[in-house]
This record gives sequence, structure tokens and C-alpha cells, in this order.
Amino acid sequence: METKSIKAFGTEAAEAPLQTLDIQRRAVQAHDVEIEILYCGICHSDLHTARNEWHGTIYPIVPGHEIVGRITKVGEHVKGFKVGDLAGVGCMVDSCRECEHCKNDLEQFCDEGNIQTFNSPDKHLGGQTYGGYSQSITVDESFVLHISDKLNLAAVAPLLCAGITTYSPLKHWKVGPGQKVGIVGIGGLGHMGIKIAKAMGAHVVVFTTSLSKTDDAKRLGADEVVLSTDETQMAQHARSLNFILDCVSAEHNIDAYLNLLKVDGTLTLVGAPMDPLPVTSFSLILGRRSFSGSLIGGIKETQEMLDFCAEHNITSDVEVIGVNDVNEAYERLLKGDVKYRFVIDMESLK
Ligand SMILES: [Zn+2]
Ligand SMILES: [Zn+2]
Repeated sequence: METKSIKAFGTEAAEAPLQTLDIQRRAVQAHDVEIEILYCGICHSDLHTARNEWHGTIYPIVPGHEIVGRITKVGEHVKGFKVGDLAGVGCMVDSCRECEHCKNDLEQFCDEGNIQTFNSPDKHLGGQTYGGYSQSITVDESFVLHISDKLNLAAVAPLLCAGITTYSPLKHWKVGPGQKVGIVGIGGLGHMGIKIAKAMGAHVVVFTTSLSKTDDAKRLGADEVVLSTDETQMAQHARSLNFILDCVSAEHNIDAYLNLLKVDGTLTLVGAPMDPLPVTSFSLILGRRSFSGSLIGGIKETQEMLDFCAEHNITSDVEVIGVNDVNEAYERLLKGDVKYRFVIDMESLK
């Protein structure tokens, strides 16, 4: 297959810093669009994969799955996009399209495993897929999203992962007016969860371990902020929440949060702590409560989320950086030193 050489930013080894690399993109096929990448968000999974912390990384790796750009070429059978359109790509670039989940717009749960934007087998070129820390990407239009020109493009990029990861469970568990919803943790995911839950009409209670984040949580839309280390504050919310979105990736006390749910309430994990989380049976039994998890969202739902965010003027709070700042940004990300998402201005990749 014909290919095109482009510049990307990635690494050849777990211990090596990211640097400029040359990679190949496939020539545009009948159903493909080619996107010139304008901005790419930095997700924590970029760092985990670049450093092989989840194992299974194949080098060289080019991370990035919060991609916003402009279409520069379309294949002859492309129907939904034209040259010059704004476009987005999230965590997936393909799936089997035939299993029950793909047929029900749940490509993230494809039985064959969805094809991730980076570090998945590339069925066109062999080797691995390369992500959005690059000048351009070629993707089948079925996995490309329409992006509104009304919002700040850099601040839209994180919606493609952090936005859909929080929107999908809030939607699935029917969060809305008259409900009290808890958001645990204020980071890349949590800050989007607050904005989206508020826009859906819920009364939003934010739980944080850091008193310094109280004002920020309110600015983001929280109706109440609870210091989770304060047992008195926690007890005031016992058996009162309809739903809790748990965005914490570190070890934490799940029972303490389950006990804040009403009867039939649900706690959903979107953070991914590496170690198992203990749960006491009575925390579930004594309220017919559910403990669950959620993974991004399908393509149709991702478009719905982007449209919802455009309608409600929701974007991510971002710090825009140049590509040469990525290694430093990774160190700051590990310390939680970002409000609340780094986004790379791809113009800086020369
Ligand atoms: Zn991500
Ligand atoms: Zn499938």
C-alpha cells in the first residue's frame, strides 16, 4: 500500500524521552479521510503506554487520542465529510463492525477488541497504529467525529477521551434534574464530570481530598464540595446520592462512597487503580446498590456528547503547550500539576 512519511512525536523505549520521529501514514482509501492535526490532548493513558506501565507497548510508540484537526483529503466514497471540515478522532479508529456491540453503537466493547488510535495492530500497514502526537492521521470516516467551530478547538480536544468517558456513564444511568450526583476526584476526568453532570441538570456534589480545590470545584459547577477526609462532612451525605462517578485512579475507600448512595443507587468507576479495590458486601446489600464501571463511549454517543458540549458551551480547562514541552508535561501530570488537561499545539511539530 502506498504510504506517506510524516513527522510525529514519540519514543523508541520505555525509559527514553519522547522525541521527533518519522512515521508512515497510509494513502487515503475510498472510505478514509486525512486530517491535519491542530491539537492533541495528553491523557494519562498516553504516559502509561509510552512507559509500558500497562505492559504490551510495542515501540516505537506515538501516543495521543484526543485529536482535533482539519480535513485535507477525502476518499472517493466518503459521504459525511469534505475537505476543510473540522474533525475529531478519539480513542478508537476501527472495530470489527459485525459483532452485537458494534451493531449496537458500542464499538468500545467490540468482541474482537476495538482498534485503538495508538498501539493497536494496524490492519492496513501492519505494525502498530500511531496516535495524535503527529502532523496528520488517516482514519475511516466511520470513526471520525464532527467538531463545532463555535468552541475553542484546543479546549475541545480533551472531550474526545475525558469528555466521553464521563458523559457516557452519566447518560447511561440517566442523570438529570432532581438528582443528587457525586463526582469523586477533580482531575482531567473529574473536572469534565462536574461540567457535564451540571449541564444535565443534576445537583452536583464534588468529593476531594484537597481543600485547595474547593473554590475551583465551585467554579466548574459544583453545588457542594465535600472534603472526603472529614468524616462529619461525609456523614452529612449518607444515603442521599442517586449516582456517583468515581474518577480516582489511586487506591481509595469504595465503601465510604457506596454508603452515600440511596437505595438502588449506582457507583461507577472510570478511574483505573492498578490494585484490586475491596468492597464490603453490606455496603451493597443494605441498599440494593450497584458497583460498576464504564469505558469511553461508542462513536454515535461520542458525536452526541460533542453536540451536547457545543450546545452547552462546555470545553475542557486546558494548558496549551508545544511538542517540546511534552516530556516536562508528563512529569507535571504525575504530580497532578495541571488544570486540568495539557493540550499540544501541533503547529509546534516541525
Ligand atoms: Zn484517554
Ligand atoms: Zn465488533
